[in-house]
Amino acid sequence: MKPFDVVIIGAGPAGSATAISCARHGLRVALIERQAFPRFRPGESLHPGIEPLLQQLGAAEQLCGRTARRFDGHWVHWDGAPRFNGFGADDRGAWQGFHLERAQLDAALLSSAAALGVEVNQPCRARRVLTQSNRVIGVETDSGCFYATCLIDASGAGCWLGRQLGLPVRHCSPPLVARYGYLQGHSATYATAAHLLADPDGWTWIAQVEPQLLHWTRLTFENNGRSASLPLALHAFPAVGPIRGADVTWRITTTAAGAGYFLVGDAANRLDPASSHGVLKALMSGMQAAQAVVDCLCKPALQIPAQAQYRHWLNAGFARDMTHLRNFYRQHPCPPSWLPAA
Ligand SMILES: Cc1cc2nc3c(=O)[nH]c(=O)nc-3n(C[C@H](O)[C@H](O)[C@H](O)COP(=O)(O)OP(=O)(O)OC[C@H]3O[C@@H](n4cnc5c(N)ncnc54)[C@H](O)[C@@H]3O)c2cc1C
Repeated sequence: MKPFDVVIIGAGPAGSATAISCARHGLRVALIERQAFPRFRPGESLHPGIEPLLQQLGAAEQLCGRTARRFDGHWVHWDGAPRFNGFGADDRGAWQGFHLERAQLDAALLSSAAALGVEVNQPCRARRVLTQSNRVIGVETDSGCFYATCLIDASGAGCWLGRQLGLPVRHCSPPLVARYGYLQGHSATYATAAHLLADPDGWTWIAQVEPQLLHWTRLTFENNGRSASLPLALHAFPAVGPIRGADVTWRITTTAAGAGYFLVGDAANRLDPASSHGVLKALMSGMQAAQAVVDCLCKPALQIPAQAQYRHWLNAGFARDMTHLRNFYRQHPCPPSWLPAA
């Protein structure tokens, strides 16, 4: 196998953003993705902050054109009367998020990476991390071994490299499972903006993600074995596909950068979907890690400080988002019993 500067495990938004940013700096990059695309992944509601990132990553033209489903914010039925949470505005008008099928986002980012010369290996599964003298030097896959100066874990919530290396993980909530599904039909209530509805057990998010497709996600704060019960208003719509579940326990890998490796996206840290910008964080962490990788490769003396700075950036962002989410949950009519005192 030929050696690479950077090998990335996972071609979701975090992995593709890392690949594109590294390739733009002239690095030799390989991406390893175990699934053939299009893959299924929830998370169609995207924060407006993603648009400038997609521009930098060469995917905005394909994704943010006139056909995109835009929205200015969402309705929150939480404490008191429903309120509209707008994203904000500037002199050009309201900032707008957009609903985008994940398959489209994946395809646009991956084609941008391939156009920059990234070697895409798909389907190809990472099997075992390769180390030498306590340094990560590559990965064994079902298509052979890939050697790299830097290995990036963008494997999502499974945190493949973290588990291989036994990296310490800090859990900041009890185990949480989000249930989610899709319904066929159009609802005037959700067509212009998504709604986040509190109930005695937790919350439900409902968004019209396509003209004839509604998405819902439900989280109960306690007792995760409980089956998902949907708001009455949704009972009239037929289900599309099964109800699925995802582990959304709040957690962070505290050593998300070390000798020969970086963790990005959900592999590095994760909150539940009410923090609402998982894809934005995935793209940002990929781009930030790429800059750290470039620093490490150009100036070996910068390796330790670049890793430390990346860890600090991740930890600070996670702490900020978690404080924000805790404060939001404290305003819930029945806040989770596990929230620490303010
Ligand atoms: C129910 C739910 C709703 C959500 N809604 C939103 C939303 O509306 N907006 C939003 O911004 N975020 C949302 N999120 C969060 C968002 O989906 C994630 O934060 C985002 O997908 C993280 O991107 P990633 O690139 O880190 O990981 P992923 O998108 O999970 O990609 C990881 C990739 O790694 C690959 N991989 C894993 N292991 C291996 C291996 N061993 N070898 C090779 N490849 C491997 C996987 O196949 C996958 O393609 C939601 C999450 C959930 C659970």
